[in-house]
Amino acid sequence: MKNRAVNSLLQSSDLEKIATPAVRGKLLKLGISRSEDLLTFFPVRYEDETCVFKIAEAPQREPVQIEVTVIQAKVEFRPRRQLVVSVEDATGIASLRFLNFYPSQQRMLEAGVRIRVVGEFRMNRQRVREMVHPRYKKISAEDELPTTLTPVYATTKGLGQASIRKAVSRAFAVADHSDTLLPFHLHELGLPSFFETVKTLHWPQADVDPALLQDRRSEFWARLSFDELLAQQLIMRKNYDKRELYSAPIMSPVNQRMELFFSRLGFKLTNAQERALSEIQADMSKCLPMRRLLQGDVGSGKTVIATLAALQAIDAGYQVALMVPTEILSEQHFKKIEDWLTVLGISVERLTGSLTKSERNQATEKIKSGVAHIVVGTHALFQGDVVFKNLGLVIIDEQHRFGVKQRLALVDKGADKLNQTHQLMMSATPIPRSLAMSFFGDLDVSVIDELPPGRIPITTKLVSNSRREEVFQRIQDTCQSGQQVYWVCPLIEESETLQLETAIQTHELIQAQFPNLNIGIVHGRMKSQEKAKVMGEFTRGDIHLLVATSVIEVGVDVPNATVMVIENAERMGLSQLHQLRGRIGRGSGASTCILLYSSKLTDTARSRLKIIYENIDGFEVARADLQLRGPGEILGARQSGLPMLRYADPERDVLLLAKARHLAPDLLTNHAELAERHIDRWYGSREKFSEV
Ligand code: ADP
Ligand code: MG
Repeated sequence: MKNRAVNSLLQSSDLEKIATPAVRGKLLKLGISRSEDLLTFFPVRYEDETCVFKIAEAPQREPVQIEVTVIQAKVEFRPRRQLVVSVEDATGIASLRFLNFYPSQQRMLEAGVRIRVVGEFRMNRQRVREMVHPRYKKISAEDELPTTLTPVYATTKGLGQASIRKAVSRAFAVADHSDTLLPFHLHELGLPSFFETVKTLHWPQADVDPALLQDRRSEFWARLSFDELLAQQLIMRKNYDKRELYSAPIMSPVNQRMELFFSRLGFKLTNAQERALSEIQADMSKCLPMRRLLQGDVGSGKTVIATLAALQAIDAGYQVALMVPTEILSEQHFKKIEDWLTVLGISVERLTGSLTKSERNQATEKIKSGVAHIVVGTHALFQGDVVFKNLGLVIIDEQHRFGVKQRLALVDKGADKLNQTHQLMMSATPIPRSLAMSFFGDLDVSVIDELPPGRIPITTKLVSNSRREEVFQRIQDTCQSGQQVYWVCPLIEESETLQLETAIQTHELIQAQFPNLNIGIVHGRMKSQEKAKVMGEFTRGDIHLLVATSVIEVGVDVPNATVMVIENAERMGLSQLHQLRGRIGRGSGASTCILLYSSKLTDTARSRLKIIYENIDGFEVARADLQLRGPGEILGARQSGLPMLRYADPERDVLLLAKARHLAPDLLTNHAELAERHIDRWYGSREKFSEV
């Protein structure tokens, strides 16, 4: 943060009353800029300093507190310089050892001083009980033992526990800790009051079970989770309702070109596709801007639905932008959509970073004049110089690869602010219901939960690297029978160059292995044209085996490819593996995905591969991934634009989430002031996140 911003934050904040400027600066680093933020900054664990043990009775190898008198403190060399302090109580003597110490410490620990010490006892070689580097403090006769557990907070360099504790105590005295839920809400939800929650979690009474608090199983943690989820739901709901302030073009779903489209399509939509389509059609025929997320596992057929939505917009006289994250995907979508729509008299344009200057000028000219009806493109689409004549629908494929800002940059190209474009976002990474409810609560969701008929489920095989030879044999057979193969090179996170080298080496190796086959290679460093050329050859069947880095992860559709080999599969994320695997099994032939793993697998790696091996359903994979790695991969770029949860876990707290979702609209309508205060308490001090 800029210094000026920091200063203004510090000045405007009520923290002034409770902390010195130095402490306030540190607190800011922890995201704390108001005294209210300290209330909701909860300890990560607790220490029990409420009772003392006698030296002779204290258990060993677990944290205990003793109250003792110093006999002597002396510096010893054995062989390192260290401070050894002998102490005693009525039951015996013990030794405290400090490897790093200040001279002042030695002076303070003079004979006769009473100290309270927290540490773990072990027997030293002299068979004396000893603590190494214990915490201690000097006490006087009237120092009573605390009656509450001692909170330990996550902190930052230069900010000690004592300072945070003091700040929290003072905040508790000045900040507003009145409840944002009404008594009857609490009663209905079976949750404790905010005041009681704050008090208990910062200063638990000695008789509560610290394990219960630490594992976050207590009702007080439930209250926090609920509050946080509620704040999130309130924000989402407000965003959702904000739509009512705008209008959007009304697009009728009835048109003749649709019939022609279907007659040429060559397949019937699945029931799930029909359902999703009619939801989208209904949205677009209203004068409210559509904000719909279309979810469907890889291969479930989202593209055709997107194309039908586009057709509806074009028929109503509007332009459509379809944005995808990679050149390969944009090329592929372009070809497919061109094939589907050109015969209907629709002009399909493309706009990617790889166009020459004059190609680009031509394209932007057509977009500006309205000659282009639908534009398929990459990030190039939302650049400043791209102007639409009348953009009415924005479709974002693989939405998790785009940030909120990027999406808004494209959406803002719509005709005017009040008459907004419809938005359709698509995701092939299935989002578990809990996450959909929490992080996507501001969107309507359609799910395609059925694959087109006739698909034979993909068989997944786990093969140790030491058995590569057998894999080669398999490939020979596959290619001879006229089918094609993907060979995916390992992901090398440390170095893109290394990854490239591996891909090139693998390519050479495989070429040598199969002199009779045509082997292609595609990777991220290739020019777009080269990439497109290779993908074209692979799609036509001229290339038998395609060596690829993970650039083919999203969206590529070559039905004749029936085998995929993934090297070092253990290095990849589960969702990514699932996406990759989804490139095969798209035709009517049986498909096999071979996961090669290095022979030395860790237990975690093994159990992760087992999940991919056992689950063909993307939702199951995503759920397992969520448990293993948290929501990062699933949320993708979206999380940068949204307030993250600190205490709640949508998956674990799914019941609370459902209740929060239920309460949010009620609170906004009937107790708007409480709702605002609730949002402010939980998210008020953080950076304003983008409107979605
Ligand atoms: P994804 O949802 O992963 O984007 P695609 O839209 O690429 O999936 O569709 C995968 C393949 O299935 C494409 O070749 C597409 O033409 C085909 N497809 C889509 N819907 C159907 C259907 N109802 N019946 C048969 N094939 C379909
Ligand atoms: Mg797709």
